[in-house]
Amino acid sequence: MENPCCICLREIDVEINGWSEGHNAEPIEKGRCCSECNTRLVVPERLHRLILKSASDLQLRILSETGRHIPLFDITGKEVQSEGPSLSV
Ligand SMILES: [Zn+2]
Repeated sequence: MENPCCICLREIDVEINGWSEGHNAEPIEKGRCCSECNTRLVVPERLHRLILKSASDLQLRILSETGRHIPLFDITGKEVQSEGPSLSV
């Protein structure tokens, strides 16, 4: 195989515009991936990280301005891995 996707290992597809080099697979893998993996895995993971990043930035801002610790869960509405014990019971 000339140009395998670094995630699913299938041949990277040639796009309508003739581009055959695939997509940057980070942060899932280092290398190039096919359009399907890009759409189904890489882009959602990037968005997920972006949301978590902006949520944790907001969390820090609230903490610095009010002294209140808001769990990320309350900001994103999604369960996230918390570091250390949660303060809310
Ligand atoms: Zn793939």
